[in-house]
Amino acid sequence: TRAVQAFDKVVDSVCPFCGVGCQTSVAVKDGKIVQVDGRDGYANENRLCVKGRFGFDYVMSAERLTKPLIRRDDAPKSGDIDLSGVDPLTIFREATWEEALERAAGGLKSLLDTHGGKALAGFGSAKGSNEEAYLFQKLVRQGFGTNNVDHCTRLCHASSVAALMEGVGSGAVSAPFNDAMKAECIIVIGARPTTNHPVAATYFKQAAKLGAKLVVMDPRKQDLMRHASHSLVFKPGTDVAMLNALLHVIIEEKLYDEQYIQANVSGFEALREKVKDFSPEAMAEVCGIEAEVLRDVARTYATAERSIIFWGMGISQHTHGTDNSRCLIALALITGHVGRPGTGLHPLRGQNNVQGASDAGLIPMYFPDYKSVENADIRGQYENFWGQALDPKRGLTVVEIIDAIHDGEIRGMYIQGENPAMSDPDQTHARQALAKLEHLVVQDIFLTETAWHADVVLPASAHAEKLGTYTNTNRQVQIGRPALEPPGEARQDWELIVEIGRRMGLDWNYKSVSEVYTEMASVMPSLRNISWERVEREESVIYPADAEDKPGNEIIFSNGFPTSDGRGRITPADLLPPDEVPDEEYPLVLTTGRLLEHWHTGAMTRRAGVLNAIEPVGIAAMNPREIARRGLSQGEMVKVETRRGTVEAILRADREVADGMIFMPFCFNESPANKLTNPMLDPYGKIPEFKYCAAQIEAADEI
Ligand code: SF4
Repeated sequence: TRAVQAFDKVVDSVCPFCGVGCQTSVAVKDGKIVQVDGRDGYANENRLCVKGRFGFDYVMSAERLTKPLIRRDDAPKSGDIDLSGVDPLTIFREATWEEALERAAGGLKSLLDTHGGKALAGFGSAKGSNEEAYLFQKLVRQGFGTNNVDHCTRLCHASSVAALMEGVGSGAVSAPFNDAMKAECIIVIGARPTTNHPVAATYFKQAAKLGAKLVVMDPRKQDLMRHASHSLVFKPGTDVAMLNALLHVIIEEKLYDEQYIQANVSGFEALREKVKDFSPEAMAEVCGIEAEVLRDVARTYATAERSIIFWGMGISQHTHGTDNSRCLIALALITGHVGRPGTGLHPLRGQNNVQGASDAGLIPMYFPDYKSVENADIRGQYENFWGQALDPKRGLTVVEIIDAIHDGEIRGMYIQGENPAMSDPDQTHARQALAKLEHLVVQDIFLTETAWHADVVLPASAHAEKLGTYTNTNRQVQIGRPALEPPGEARQDWELIVEIGRRMGLDWNYKSVSEVYTEMASVMPSLRNISWERVEREESVIYPADAEDKPGNEIIFSNGFPTSDGRGRITPADLLPPDEVPDEEYPLVLTTGRLLEHWHTGAMTRRAGVLNAIEPVGIAAMNPREIARRGLSQGEMVKVETRRGTVEAILRADREVADGMIFMPFCFNESPANKLTNPMLDPYGKIPEFKYCAAQIEAADEI
């Protein structure tokens, strides 16, 4: 913290939004944030995007929760209820902290005593710090006695992580995005970095300008294609056809790295056999890309000295998301484009701390550092450390928890900082589940769509009000510092998790965030040599680090893989159709995603004045040709309908959207795209198919 003329203080911190993890300077005057600038961090070199620079005023919003709330006995509970314009104090009454915490913990404890741990679940948050994530998963495992703990990683890169764990033994990126600057060939597939990782995108554009081949593959056109050597606008849902065609060419033309495969890779022969039928000529019609283009991309990627792959939700949010990622892993493994500078596999992580929250164990199948809860030896270590028996079975994932509420299996939940009423697929089903819970505790900074369903609401702290560490997409553990005090009676998230734990009978005596970090780091080999003091001192340390006084390793997998035999493993993938394809009744494909100005469910950015002024209303975007073909007009109100429901939105003409498709962002509560999405899951990552379902559209007055 520095005093700077014109400001009362300037606090060095990190951006609260995307996984790029830009370092920031937060200027405070008269108890308010008045300016945010970029610092010279490894991930951003002074740059910020519009969200990081102008999206800070949500912290000072008049809508912040400042007092604990308890649901009134006569307040209706229904997933279908329209809460727009409803005064919160007709649903909730204000309470003291003592009463609210007793009610919150007491309700959970009573369900635990009556029905056992299986009746409880918790959603932590990828927006919170590593310390909050560690404490939250510990609370669920130790205090609730279950592994039913998850967070929104399940909705973003769960399938990528499943494939990476299987293929290379680690879910984290093998190289930072900055390494694009060292690559000769960069593939960006199923990601829109200029929208969702804008500062990372600047490195891709710079690399292309300096001569690297930039291959952008996406069913929607996008800005980055203006900088690309190859732009492949392929048919949605045909990723495996296109990627297997690339693998086919590399094998047919012997462009693979035989020496590397022999030393480091298993499964090559099975892959060779599988992709025989996927010639570019056979796949061109399937994926909509000419065979010669597929051959050129395969040759460009394989023959470059250094090639790197970046991917996003377009790969992962499918019922075949794990298969999509398996193909990308196979590309890197057979060409040896991994483990060296300028090469590798990089799933671009979405939220500021989704990497860290997953690392810290906020997932139902793993303790911290991806150690299986079903492994008796590992579980034994935690039982010794935490002093009690732990659930030997993996827990339920996000969508499975929603289904288990409907089945009456789960009766109580604690949700910290997540907004499943907006983020989960088939929203009506998800909201009805939240309404059905016998006891729901929500801890957040706003009365989110999820909090409206709560029995107890605990007002918590915004990113700019707390101290903690966050791990970005590059594996950089970075420190976030408080610039402001929480408003009113709002309290620190970590303290509230501890309060709930203590009131449920846990002997927890944490005194500080650093104490939590130190305990967490003691059980996480990935954080070895990265002490709290070091992160405070250096601001940012990449894991793994070989020594306290040595920088962390930007590149991993240089000497084999952390798998049981040290080899990378190829799992060939078959072409499977999306779960729900267009038909006569629903002839269009609906795909969902984000906008540059709004972040995820919009809880923060829709309350940020500048950002919401730029994108103020819910939209559905279609190609102008498709709009004309259907007799619709840009700017009119339309109804988009799927088998799950109907949503009204303003129709936007967008040449980036292909014919036959509708794109909707999922951040608008008045036009909630997730009311329409298909909850069918990828069998491995348990991620829903947000990127593809059958839909129809009509003028609002015609349905
Ligand atoms: Fe924040 Fe991401 Fe923008 Fe950087 S790129 S300023 S981390 S939202």
